[in-house]
Amino acid sequence: MLKPHLKHCKAKAPRCKTISISFNPLNVLIEMFCPRCGKTNEKLFNGLCRSCFIDEINLVSVPETIEVTICAHCGSILQGRRWIDSSLSSEDIIFSGIMENVKANENAENLDISIKILNISGSTFECLLRMNALVLGEPVQRECPVKVILNRKVCPDCSKFASGYYEAVIQIRADKRLPSPEEIRRSDNAIKENVERISKKNRMAYISQRLKIKEGVDYYVGSFKVAKKLTSTLKNILGGTIKESPRLMGRDKNTGKDLYRVWISLRLPQFQKGDFISYKGLKAQVSDFNGDKIHLRNLESSGTASVSWRDYKKIKVIAKKEDIKSAMITAKTPKSIQILHPDTYQPMDMEIDQELLKYEIGEELKVVEIEGTLYILKT
Ligand SMILES: [Zn+2]
Ligand SMILES: [Zn+2]
Repeated sequence: MLKPHLKHCKAKAPRCKTISISFNPLNVLIEMFCPRCGKTNEKLFNGLCRSCFIDEINLVSVPETIEVTICAHCGSILQGRRWIDSSLSSEDIIFSGIMENVKANENAENLDISIKILNISGSTFECLLRMNALVLGEPVQRECPVKVILNRKVCPDCSKFASGYYEAVIQIRADKRLPSPEEIRRSDNAIKENVERISKKNRMAYISQRLKIKEGVDYYVGSFKVAKKLTSTLKNILGGTIKESPRLMGRDKNTGKDLYRVWISLRLPQFQKGDFISYKGLKAQVSDFNGDKIHLRNLESSGTASVSWRDYKKIKVIAKKEDIKSAMITAKTPKSIQILHPDTYQPMDMEIDQELLKYEIGEELKVVEIEGTLYILKT
């Protein structure tokens, strides 16, 4: 049983109208009396003697029947014209529905209300309110039945979800290749985790459809804002470039606004981590990337650099990480190191530098051949 307490009742002192004697125009003394019990010479409260006033008082006023509307899917409650998120049990919804409709009598001090559900039939909850308060310093107890009708409807957001409504489509594609099964698996996991998290605050964070097609995968998202967030999360994980193309779908009958649906495409890069690219004359290995930048290791100088995704179009893939081979060191002088070409086994003399000094004859180095030049990968 819930015991809600109406705080504001405590502070108010009973307001008593005290009329004991008055004079009529004829200057004749008229004695006031209680019209309920007929007692005379009594202080009157709202026209009644003290004991009749206490007998007659209603501690609260509350409608006989109260209607509460909730969404059968998400549990949100209709308050006025707005749907408010709620995670209350139906019992607590009934109690708070009653308490919102209770008006306390200003003469009831220290008002305490307890509610008990006596009977449930269908969506009708028959409840009993028990109230305790002090009236003119005397403890008073009252009971009063209240019927609560719980209307179960579907809120607009849930009906959009149920009808498969979506504001945006996230398309995962890849540049000059197909997204790999691993990339699609990582994308699916990120979508699932993030939708689960965002949907706790936003009912429109749902995927109404996931479509696997030859070119990649499509996610139909309830809200455009959520779709944008999800796409930037995916870009952080998988890299790539984002393009949005809105399409006019019609007009909102209520607001008169144009309705758009937006296709957001995340095009994954042609390269993967470890692949080799050229960028503005620089030959480099892609060491890493995130949503902002691509990190590179220069093949000639071993120095590092980074490139923004905005410049993605200027990047050319020149070798894949699968092209990396091993080459044996066959000779070493203070100025050069000799390795065997991994394919032709021809000895090749390469300039030695600080990083190559630690290797000994007989050890293997990782190399990659690009446009006829063999590069040693220094780590
Ligand atoms: Zn009386
Ligand atoms: Zn709902």
